[in-house]
Amino acid sequence: MLNIVIFGAPGSGKGTQSELIISKYGLYHISTGDILRTEMKNQTELGKIAEDYIKNGRLIPDDLIISILSNVLEENSQFKGYIFDGFPRTLVQGETLDQLLREKNTSVVAVFNLQVEEEELITRLLKRGNDQQRTDDNLEVIQNRLKVYHTQTEPLKKYYRKKGKLFTIKGGNSIDDVFEQITDVIDHLSF
Ligand code: AMP
Repeated sequence: MLNIVIFGAPGSGKGTQSELIISKYGLYHISTGDILRTEMKNQTELGKIAEDYIKNGRLIPDDLIISILSNVLEENSQFKGYIFDGFPRTLVQGETLDQLLREKNTSVVAVFNLQVEEEELITRLLKRGNDQQRTDDNLEVIQNRLKVYHTQTEPLKKYYRKKGKLFTIKGGNSIDDVFEQITDVIDHLSF
């Protein structure tokens, strides 16, 4: 299976690149942020819990997000691979993802680390806040999300680097250029 993690700070282009990868390789897109936003829109119990964390730029607790992810994996087992977008965001999530995939006799084959300057990230997120009315795309929450990214999520880079699975991509270039760098790696993967 072609299982890919798209990794990077908020605003690094994970969602945009995921869409392009899916249409080229026919993978199933799992965006934990999108799942949570849908729950919030439908005002479900889960949505109400998530809202408190999201609007402050904090991470949803590991056990909760892991149980959501494991359900999604169970319900969508017929695909030739998954793209994980916004998951994992902590070391515990990374280790659990490995475990869940191992149980299915598969694994993550590549992690694309989209690297973008902090100033550019903030500019992009403020613009998205205007365009899409996302409650977490305002300056105060953005700064908190970046802090959370550096402290809780970035350690995963070392985790995947050690496994030889981390591919760092210059994410500040055009959408097409970033996609080309990614496809170049995917097309040369042996798994
Ligand atoms: P995203 O759209 O991926 O930037 O996610 C938006 C928000 O949803 C994040 O700031 C977190 O509050 C929450 N979230 C999404 N994915 C996760 C995850 N894997 N672990 C914890 N919280 C998450």
